[in-house]
Amino acid sequence: MPSQFVPRTRKVRILATLGPASSTAGKIRRLAEAGADAFRINMSHGTHKDHLALIETIRGLEKELERPTTILADLQGPKLRVGKFAGGSAMLKNGQKFVFDRSKEAGDETRVSLPHREIFDAIQPGARLLIDDGKIVQRVVSATADRIETLVEVGGRISDKKGLNVPDVVLPLAALTDKDREDLAFALDNQVDWIALSFVQRPEDVAEAKRLIAGRASLLAKIEKPAAVERLEGILELADAVMVARGDLGVELPPEQVPPLQKQIVEAARRMGRPVVVATQMLESMISSPSPTRAEVSDVATAVYDGADAIMLSAESASGDFPCEAVEMMNRIATSVESDPTHGARVHFTETLPDPTTADAIAQSANNMVETVSAAAIVCFTTSGSTARRVSRERPSVPLLVLTPSLKTARRLGLLWGAHAVRTRDIANFEEMIAKAKRMAIRHGAARGGQRIIITAGVPFGTPGSTNVIHIVRLVGDELERHKV
Ligand code: PGA
Ligand code: MN
Repeated sequence: MPSQFVPRTRKVRILATLGPASSTAGKIRRLAEAGADAFRINMSHGTHKDHLALIETIRGLEKELERPTTILADLQGPKLRVGKFAGGSAMLKNGQKFVFDRSKEAGDETRVSLPHREIFDAIQPGARLLIDDGKIVQRVVSATADRIETLVEVGGRISDKKGLNVPDVVLPLAALTDKDREDLAFALDNQVDWIALSFVQRPEDVAEAKRLIAGRASLLAKIEKPAAVERLEGILELADAVMVARGDLGVELPPEQVPPLQKQIVEAARRMGRPVVVATQMLESMISSPSPTRAEVSDVATAVYDGADAIMLSAESASGDFPCEAVEMMNRIATSVESDPTHGARVHFTETLPDPTTADAIAQSANNMVETVSAAAIVCFTTSGSTARRVSRERPSVPLLVLTPSLKTARRLGLLWGAHAVRTRDIANFEEMIAKAKRMAIRHGAARGGQRIIITAGVPFGTPGSTNVIHIVRLVGDELERHKV
């Protein structure tokens, strides 16, 4: 099998959403070659047949490229929609009254049905209803179990099944709809690596999804509701990663509140050692243009300077005219920022103090040793990936090569800052550990002869959760000969 392996030195990961513009093997391959580390399958669109074809294509590509590749299935979640209109739409004027009810009849200028009983149960006078990404704003005047009267504050044309955001109250919605449960079962049956949970409101939502997933995939909680921001710590406690889902967040909250929240969420996630993805509209104009705006370039750069684990493309790679160019552009921006000499200091502006655990003692020491002895790389043996997460949390300046016998672990690490995961056979003793670390460091371009590497591992070998060894070793010329690298 010809190896297309190109060692990647970029630290931040690129997560590309797949869709009609990127569904063939050729296109997905080009996205991977342009720099995509992980792929998002949006369960809001397409059929299970379409999704299965994508999963199979990515797994085929993974073999060809000889690089563990990450698949994230993004569940639609309890997305709210208004009912239908006679004639498809209606024009709402500023200052008029408008009613949402539970009637089955088609809507008009005065009313429409709202097929979500939970909103009637929870809504309060004074709360806002936002239609079509917040383009139309209505304020609740009165509410009963089957009728919500509103005043239209910002009018516009409202049409069939438009999306609805209810930012001001916590809705008694289940974390997963029936569709989500089916999509989840499908995704787990087909061994995706990550499940993304949309419209999370409370830690309990994450707990419920985790129970259903039962360890078969990692769980990413999308932070896109003000209620989730308020319970961020509790959500981070339970989730394996989070996303700053700026699309819906910027509808539910005024857009100017999103940048400070982005900083806050990225920082909280980093402190707790949870990968964090910054998402939505990063290169929006590239949906229809081969080059981005300067402001978009700056936005991507900001996420990289903030030390986010991953940056995401949505429609840019899923349905735009320039999916590969968008990935390439992200790669170029990230590479440029990461080669800025101030990048390290800016990333370390967020202090990540160690927990009083062996894993953190090792992770912090490994990072310190890199500086003290000018080591070229950290090589981390791990079964579950948890040591790699703790080392990555330190944001080391050198390559982090993660060696794991578990393909599942290697795939899951694709959202982790700086982690370069390689599946290898387990090691049996200390000599093997050293020999393998040296060999792999050289093979994967992480170190050269004469340089030192820092190795972390767990003794007894092959026991998960036992990282307790840290070792410094120097690669010497004749040794490399012996390893025939
Ligand atoms: P979506 O989530 O693309 O599934 O809506 C991301 C966001 O809201 O930003
Ligand atoms: Mn969203």
